[in-house]
Amino acid sequence: MRIKFKTPQEPGAYLHICRADGSWTLCGDKDTEIEKVSFNDAGLGLDRYRVIVQEDGQSALVIRFADLHRHSDYSLMDGMTKVPEMVKRTEYAGALTDHGNMYGFLEHYKAMRKAGKKPILGFEAYQESLKGELEGNHLILLAKNFKGYQNLLKLTSESFDHFYRKPYVTWEMLKKHHEGIIVSSACLGGIIPRALMNGNTEAAEYAIKQFQTLFGEDFYLEIQRHGIKGEEQVNQQILALGKKYGIQVIATTDSHYPAKEDKAAHEVLLCAQTKKTMAEPHFTFEGTGYHMHTSEEMEALFSDIPEVLDNTLRLAEKCNVELKLGEVNLPYYEIPKAYATPMDYFRHLCEEGFQNRFAGKPQLTDPVYKERFDYEMAMIEQMGFASYFIIVWDFINFARKNNVYVGPGRGSAAGSLLAYCIGITDMDPIRFNLLFERFLNPERVSWPD
Ligand SMILES: [Zn+2]
Ligand SMILES: [Zn+2]
Repeated sequence: MRIKFKTPQEPGAYLHICRADGSWTLCGDKDTEIEKVSFNDAGLGLDRYRVIVQEDGQSALVIRFADLHRHSDYSLMDGMTKVPEMVKRTEYAGALTDHGNMYGFLEHYKAMRKAGKKPILGFEAYQESLKGELEGNHLILLAKNFKGYQNLLKLTSESFDHFYRKPYVTWEMLKKHHEGIIVSSACLGGIIPRALMNGNTEAAEYAIKQFQTLFGEDFYLEIQRHGIKGEEQVNQQILALGKKYGIQVIATTDSHYPAKEDKAAHEVLLCAQTKKTMAEPHFTFEGTGYHMHTSEEMEALFSDIPEVLDNTLRLAEKCNVELKLGEVNLPYYEIPKAYATPMDYFRHLCEEGFQNRFAGKPQLTDPVYKERFDYEMAMIEQMGFASYFIIVWDFINFARKNNVYVGPGRGSAAGSLLAYCIGITDMDPIRFNLLFERFLNPERVSWPD
């Protein structure tokens, strides 16, 4: 629904409508009243609506829907929407839910924030069946808060340790990492819709109870209207189950491309994925409407059950993840108890490394080496890089011990004698006349590679 209002606002600005004393008021950012709005349509359901001012500064679009299920081209060979395009087409809040991965989450997060829109982080997992079979059930996972975001990262990573054609999320993993995560039952490929499609209501209800136990109020049922055979019957069952178990139902579109007109191009992409030509019989999505929908389109599609759109807004309001960008977040490295500080441990590693590298060689007693050793040590201590060196030492060492190829060193790091001593690099910088200052010096503010 579009409304007209007289006060010109900056295009793209967000406003919302508050209902006070039975009438509607248009409010700015801090609930400052802008003007009264008359609505003929009083039965809107929610008390707060997002309004975005259009280009002309006069008309505004009422946001009735948060887009919680959508694929970008990081759903490889399957999704087609590029992140900037997705962000441009987002009205208010939107989730990125690529298949089995979160490759695009940061790009999406930054672009959404820049556009003044609300990013929701997530992915559409491949989930094992109720019996633990790896049969590719879909499941939407969204981050409610920072903890949820961290758990999503754990789930995507661990799912690659359960790889069978696809990375799998297991029930065990959900039990371990469910905190801060919102779950939605996904498309017809989800465990619950699938069971209902097969006429197995018992299995569907069992799955609902499993999800409810784990996620409580953060478990949602999901319906879509793509016009697939049997879909509407499943939707009605889902709505009924929602009532029975007190679970909110959300409406989504399984968007895989930006606009309606992109359907044909998407079909070509699917042909490329399945190695077919358009002339041959080939795989396509059953039904229609796999583009990004506007509030208006969604309202038309779900006019009989508008509460499933309200629920998307409610869900979106629950999700608040703040990522601290531009900070260096080094992993914590637990040093052996015998050492008081990372610097102590680092010094020990370097001294030991020096002995090992130069045992029986003249360098062992060469004052040039001793001087360089002490100089680098002082510099690393002054700049507080000990932990950083230990971390790099740890993973390079692991790689070498486990037959993972490691180069002799790259870039300016090759100029460090200490890096050579502890095995991060494999060439003696003094022998090759390489400068330590190119790698680290007090004037260089950025972190070394
Ligand atoms: Zn799906
Ligand atoms: Zn999907």
